[in-house]
Amino acid sequence: MGQNGEMKQHDAIVIGGGLVGAAIAYGLAREGLDTALIDEGDVAFRASRGNFGLVWVQSKGVGAPHYQRWTRLSAAEWPKLAAELGQRTGVAVGLEQPGGVQLCLGDEEFAGRQAMMEQMRTEAGNFGFEYRMLSHDELAETLPGLGPEVTGGSWTPYDGHVNSLYLLHALHKGFVERGGTYLPNRTVDYAAAQPHDFRLGSGADEIAAPRIVLAAGLGNAALAPLFGLSAPVRPQRGQILVTERSERIWPIPLGSLRQTLEGSIMLGSSEEEVGFDTGQRPEVMQAIAARAVRTFPWLAELQIVRAWSALRVMPPDGKPIYDESEKFPGAFTANCHSGVTLAGAHANAFAPMVAAGALDPMMLPFSARRFDIPQAAE
Ligand SMILES: Cc1cc2nc3c(=O)[nH]c(=O)nc-3n(C[C@H](O)[C@H](O)[C@H](O)COP(=O)(O)OP(=O)(O)OC[C@H]3O[C@@H](n4cnc5c(N)ncnc54)[C@H](O)[C@@H]3O)c2cc1C
Repeated sequence: MGQNGEMKQHDAIVIGGGLVGAAIAYGLAREGLDTALIDEGDVAFRASRGNFGLVWVQSKGVGAPHYQRWTRLSAAEWPKLAAELGQRTGVAVGLEQPGGVQLCLGDEEFAGRQAMMEQMRTEAGNFGFEYRMLSHDELAETLPGLGPEVTGGSWTPYDGHVNSLYLLHALHKGFVERGGTYLPNRTVDYAAAQPHDFRLGSGADEIAAPRIVLAAGLGNAALAPLFGLSAPVRPQRGQILVTERSERIWPIPLGSLRQTLEGSIMLGSSEEEVGFDTGQRPEVMQAIAARAVRTFPWLAELQIVRAWSALRVMPPDGKPIYDESEKFPGAFTANCHSGVTLAGAHANAFAPMVAAGALDPMMLPFSARRFDIPQAAE
């Protein structure tokens, strides 16, 4: 019991109100479950507020066809999710899915990219994977001012981008409008787990439910063992630069470059192993800007108006972790480094599985049990 002796029973609890938790909580509420979303709040790591906003498919799941399919499923669900959020909340999340191009500097990058895309196609099997490697000249027709160092790029029709701050806002708004209970500024500091019976304390409140989803980003690493789960995620820092607004010039997102609907150009994003350090480093920012200018020399004319860093939620092998607890059935966890891209899957596929009480067998390869490698015989 909480200090006031009050205990509120729900159908489901989600811990973590970032993009992953908010998408799942929204999906659960839409399934008709009385859901509580408990969130520490906008503190510290800010992955859901400081990301790049890509709905990016073309590089996801190399060597892991299940992850490729999951990402494709999410991209396919995205238009429905965006339209539904727009209708229900009045928040236009700015989804555009015109396809995307990853630009390559030099022959080596181009050859490496081509090999990767071909591997994706082979691994897709009958599911299919449409891509094209485009030459400099082909790209220059649609991308004015393309720098001479750009040798070409990979294109797929599946990619897109979105305003991820509006997305987070819309998911929260939609969740509450669907009858969800949002409990902000609460850090989960107490948990009692029994099969299909989970009780959480935070301050004076106690809430209980037969289902719980751990979606607390980097907080999942500490929370998971309380529920017989494992979520060995680590922080990976990303820094992003944003230019002043300019005329809208690119018809598609370009991987580490994208132009927002408002006209700002986002340059990103680094991948740094610096633990929980949320600082910014001039040399990293310079490297991001230098690559952007090699790609489009005219970018040097634009002022950088903002820059920030945020921490990704990174599983050991870079692929998402979804799991359900064997010890405490009813407890689930969701962890990934592409919470924007996967929002469609989280709201429209993962949440219905949780509501139904079990993950679909297609989710088995995502279990953290893949990290339980038996000790090699000495
Ligand atoms: C620089 C950068 C660029 C990125 N670009 C992209 C991109 O282009 N496309 C894409 O798809 N993804 C991108 N991502 C990744 C994406 O932003 C993340 O996958 C996503 O935001 C993770 O969401 P989350 O909800 O898991 O984690 P978080 O955003 O960290 O949210 C977790 C929440 O749980 C709360 N919490 C933690 N512990 C507790 C606790 N004990 N009790 C209660 N609450 C708790 C936290 O306060 C927080 O609100 C990027 C990330 C970064 C950092």
